[in-house]
Amino acid sequence: MAEARWVDVVVPVPVRTAFTYAWPLDREPEPGLRVFVPFGRNRVLLGVVVSVRTDAPDYTAKDVLRCVDERPSFQRQQLALWYWLSEYYLCAPGEAMAAAMPGFMQVEPDDEAPYTLREDGVWSVRFAAPRHDGDAVNRAFGSLARAKLQAEALLRYFQLALEAEPDDNRHPWVAVASLTAEGSDVKPAHLSALVERGILERELRPLDRSLDLGDALALPELSEAQSAALTELSSAAGQPALLWGATGSGKTEVYLHLAAHALEEGKHVLLMVPEIGLIPQVLRRAGRALGAERVAAWHHQLADGERRALWDHLLDPDSAPRVVVATRSGILLPWHRLGLIVVDEEHETSYKQQEPAPRYHARDVAVWLAQQKKIPIVLGSATPSAETWHHAATGKYARAALPERYSGVAFPEVRALSTLKAQVLHQEVGPFTPEAYAAVAQALVDRQQVLVFQNRRGYAPVLTCMNCGWIEPCSECDVSLTYHKKARQLVCHYCGLHKDLPQTCPQCRQSAWDWRGLGTERIEEEVEALFPEARILRVDSDSARSKRAMSDFLQWMESGEIDLVVGTQMVGKGLDIAGLALAVVTNADTMLSRPDFRAHERAFQLLLQVAGRTGRREQRGLLLVQTATPGHPVLQKVADHDVAGMMDLLLRDRAEHHYPPFARMLRIEVRHRKESVARDVAHFLAENLLRALAGGILGPDAPPVARVQGLFRQHLWVKLPADGSVKATKRRVLKELDGLIYHPHGRSVRVVVDVDPI
Ligand code: ADP
Ligand code: ZN
Ligand code: ZN
Repeated sequence: MAEARWVDVVVPVPVRTAFTYAWPLDREPEPGLRVFVPFGRNRVLLGVVVSVRTDAPDYTAKDVLRCVDERPSFQRQQLALWYWLSEYYLCAPGEAMAAAMPGFMQVEPDDEAPYTLREDGVWSVRFAAPRHDGDAVNRAFGSLARAKLQAEALLRYFQLALEAEPDDNRHPWVAVASLTAEGSDVKPAHLSALVERGILERELRPLDRSLDLGDALALPELSEAQSAALTELSSAAGQPALLWGATGSGKTEVYLHLAAHALEEGKHVLLMVPEIGLIPQVLRRAGRALGAERVAAWHHQLADGERRALWDHLLDPDSAPRVVVATRSGILLPWHRLGLIVVDEEHETSYKQQEPAPRYHARDVAVWLAQQKKIPIVLGSATPSAETWHHAATGKYARAALPERYSGVAFPEVRALSTLKAQVLHQEVGPFTPEAYAAVAQALVDRQQVLVFQNRRGYAPVLTCMNCGWIEPCSECDVSLTYHKKARQLVCHYCGLHKDLPQTCPQCRQSAWDWRGLGTERIEEEVEALFPEARILRVDSDSARSKRAMSDFLQWMESGEIDLVVGTQMVGKGLDIAGLALAVVTNADTMLSRPDFRAHERAFQLLLQVAGRTGRREQRGLLLVQTATPGHPVLQKVADHDVAGMMDLLLRDRAEHHYPPFARMLRIEVRHRKESVARDVAHFLAENLLRALAGGILGPDAPPVARVQGLFRQHLWVKLPADGSVKATKRRVLKELDGLIYHPHGRSVRVVVDVDPI
């Protein structure tokens, strides 16, 4: 009989502790094993053993029911990370565990096998017609006019197919798991319906991790500037390092050299990118430089089999080193023998998880992990975040710079154009000032490509009755509905509610609608009227759903046969537009005047990114920014391409007002169906926090959109001093949150804590 033992088990519940169970099994308990444990009155949960204890708890612990694993599925380092996440981000270790446990490990109590994987391959679909039958795409979408969900599923297939390798004259296979992944509206039933119609074919495809790389295998030779940066980064002993390099300066080449070095030492490399859409390209480049068998991808759309293969590979202490190109969840993998972390585009907000907890910032977690493991970490960006810039400026981080584009193309000219002047003089031409209009017209005459950037989709953000001024609000959120003209619908951009445009005004029964403000759809319409000869394409999350836009889009990607693109920031992300001559930002004021201390930082980053899409070797690009405030300091810094100057401005302001990086922020959101309850509870909490912390509390206040999906929200901000007392302060905050049970409504509100919100 084995000696009595107990284990602490983390289970996926939002309770900030592990639970102790007795270990009645024959095998030895070990941290990292998955187990089934009884929980509450009659639930059985899958948890993970985090520690083994020989001392009995002072109550009768229940028994572990079953151990799922032969060997631990998680490493001790991962368990430590869950605890660090829970402490830093004020979540439960079980929430961190749930985020770190991939779907294939989430077995049910009656599953026999250690993993749920039952198939020896990946169910995949492809468009059935040959690739050269261009009209087949249109015919297929035509036949789906009445099957909107199937049309959307097909569209999603084509989007993912763009990233896959085609099979000579057939369309590429795309895994069903990728199409139906979390965050997608596509259901397996839609795909089955498409298979039944003969539009898609379905097959169980063998796992195939070979990359078709085309070119010969070679690590690119570095330029002098790149070699110098490499040397600086390699000598940044024990410090995180910022690689500040202009777009196209060849940061990726520097990463690959660093990665090659780590591989030679037998170490794995984590290369993080902010968007799933960027992975295929980076993977191909890494594969070409380092060998296809030495690179792998990790993201939530991978098929279970692929994820499991990589997980097992990383768990195996003797496996060959790999470069793993991953989105933010890559930081949660079983990393031992990790030799290097690279966080590309470190300023991107998609590194921060918003929902659900843990609301972690993968870049910050990466910095922590690198310091734990004493390995190098490189944060790369053309427009670093204010935080990272500050750390580099104060010597906490090392810094290397690549100011020039590798191709030698000059940075585009940037001009701010006054919309007020144009308005006063009645000189506007559609959405353009006269200067912008002339520049677009000239570019089109010269047969050059133009981007018109408007960060708002739909036709008009506000539809009003001309007679009585009625504005249709969302029934669930405190915002007006956005008018989408082509669909003849009003849409809530917060909760997704759709409704048909009313024939007459619900208030006065007249039918004279007016609209205010510009969305991409309206700009597209106006630009079409201004330039009837131009081939125009709109790229936003709506257009990516309509059938015509889709076949145009495919064509455009392949041949560049589009003159003018109207787009949101979707254009900036992932799409590589070769050498636009001109970009016009129709209205920069909404981004410059957002009520958020990061508004200027974000606007600067976005504008510089759009500017970075313009220009070729033969011709300098041009960015025109339309605004009511042409003298705005942010626009001047963009025009001067002055990142350092912008950062100085921002940081001076942040220091003065005690904002990050000079303080840390913690946001508490209280949600309830009734506004008064949300407000009461938030005030109760604010008073208690104020007493406990003696200051540093802002709010409570309703955010600009106070109600979303029927819940009223109140925000409270806690400013934490950026010194060693952060931990203690956070513990006090937790104590006060626990004290909410003393409020009569304390149990009926939902409270969301976000540490370092963005
Ligand atoms: P960044 O990652 O900084 O935006 P990239 O690494 O994508 O820049 O480089 C931009 C372009 O310049 C790419 O097409 C890349 O192939 C090319 N390039 C950069 N450095 C080199 C090099 N050392 N040798 C060959 N081509 C390079
Ligand atoms: Zn009316
Ligand atoms: Zn809504």
